[in-house]
Amino acid sequence: MVIYVQEYKLYLLIQSEHLDSYRHKGLRNKLIDDIRSKGIKNEEVLEAMGRVPRHLFMDSSFVNFSYTDKAFPISAGQTISQPYTVAYQTELLDVSRHLKVLEVGTGSGYQTAVLLELGARVYTIERQRQLFLDAQKTLGPLNYKPIFFYGDGYEGLPAYAPFDRILVTAAALEIPQSLLDQLTVGGVLVVPEGGHLGQKMIRVVRETEDHFQHSEHGHFSFVPLLRGKNN
Ligand code: SAH
Repeated sequence: MVIYVQEYKLYLLIQSEHLDSYRHKGLRNKLIDDIRSKGIKNEEVLEAMGRVPRHLFMDSSFVNFSYTDKAFPISAGQTISQPYTVAYQTELLDVSRHLKVLEVGTGSGYQTAVLLELGARVYTIERQRQLFLDAQKTLGPLNYKPIFFYGDGYEGLPAYAPFDRILVTAAALEIPQSLLDQLTVGGVLVVPEGGHLGQKMIRVVRETEDHFQHSEHGHFSFVPLLRGKNN
């Protein structure tokens, strides 16, 4: 019996090593240093990213590149965002514990995990059914618990509004009015705006019920925010 228990412990050890090893953690620390050197200053954001095993969110074909600062293809012709971009958007969003955050575009679930690591209450919506299902399979075993929705995030989630923060991880041709309407007063929306030739990162602060302050924050490249949902 004792031998059996020890064998089982060894098995668990091997399993967990396989999940997130010292080698992965070392690579991740280097990636975080790289992102910091590119100008991300918020240490809480960097620490949160340092805790998320990005290799478990990647498509298996690209898993060896998990800790390079690049976007990669996932299912349904979508992408897992570049880590620098995740850090940049999260920093702009100004997340703190217990804030209610809506993420539009669950994708791989990687950004969702970073928001959860910062202590936010996360509502995440995805229009691609396969990604909606896959993200639950990835996040569940890692004990990340957002509230998942399958639908058109362009409409936001009126039944659950208002939100303290809204983060859009796909490019909108124009900022959806529905999302502005679902911000709390004092709330922040971060959204890349523009067409396929490139987008500007926009940050909107709802200063009063009727007044929204817009600012621009550099150029990025995202997959488009599409309308409707996809089987
Ligand atoms: N945060 C994700 C980014 C994925 S790419 C990650 O790091 O993995 C953007 C995602 O937005 C894609 O999965 C795409 O299917 C989704 N998307 C595009 N338009 C959408 C919409 N209207 N509603 C919900 N999700 C949408």
